[in-house]
Amino acid sequence: MTVYLNGKFMPIAEAYVPVLDRGFIFGDGVYEVIPVYSKCAFRLDEHLQRLQHSLDGIRLANPHSNAEWTQILSELIARNAGEDQYLYLHITRGVARRDHAFPQPPVPATVYAMSSPLLPPDNALLASGVAAVTAVDNRWLHCDIKAISLLPNVLLRQQAVDAGCAEAILLRHDPITGSGFMTEGAASNIFVVKNNTLLAPPKDNLMLPGITYDVVLELARAAGIAHEVRKITEAEVRNADELLLTSSTKEILAITTLDGKPVGRGKPGAMFAQLYPLYQKFKHEVMRKP
Ligand code: PMP
Repeated sequence: MTVYLNGKFMPIAEAYVPVLDRGFIFGDGVYEVIPVYSKCAFRLDEHLQRLQHSLDGIRLANPHSNAEWTQILSELIARNAGEDQYLYLHITRGVARRDHAFPQPPVPATVYAMSSPLLPPDNALLASGVAAVTAVDNRWLHCDIKAISLLPNVLLRQQAVDAGCAEAILLRHDPITGSGFMTEGAASNIFVVKNNTLLAPPKDNLMLPGITYDVVLELARAAGIAHEVRKITEAEVRNADELLLTSSTKEILAITTLDGKPVGRGKPGAMFAQLYPLYQKFKHEVMRKP
């Protein structure tokens, strides 16, 4: 496996970062995950735009122009085997004496990128769907930033795994009304289906603006599927006909049990059956374009 670190390509075994890197010390950095189909990065412009949003959110200058990123990532894709891969990009505020405040003057950012084989969910998983639990969203108020400090997400995802589940659906409580509402999954965005309408939570500071989320809403719009983007209550999650999770590596997956109870009929439903092939078709059409 060939990786990229601070301007050089090298075997992963040779890639080292000093212990005073602010990513290691403070989790002071951001990241991106980009799927690659047929050696071609999917929705690259949108991922690079989100990377810029994350960098702006932590007040870190982008170390590369989009043209430079494109060049680095193309070379990384070419140097790694496999038609379908996923790219992981990681940028930290660099190496400096330990002090919470930003290094003054600024030091060069640490820039790391690697590529791994992309294995979307197999047919058995697509047919069965996955189990999920609900969990209290105890993260910070900047979940729109794809920060490398993922400890809350790690603990929430482990809560799901400990319960034999694939994902945790995160719920916050309105401080005024006390009522619960859904934000996203520990590592995915979540859609609710009720009475043939696709419901999506609005993109705000409480969720990551998913690239797959955007694609699914675009596909719904184009196919004339009824959809609403609005706050989704805990009750709507618990009484859903279908629940869907989306992410760059899992694409679209049905959630068929929640907290041990079946979602709808406990099988992937009609909305999943409609959206999944649309996503596959779209992905392949985009990849065929020069
Ligand atoms: N929310 C969170 C917390 C995530 O970590 C992810 C990606 N793993 C997503 C949503 C989905 O985003 P995308 O579709 O861009 O992969």
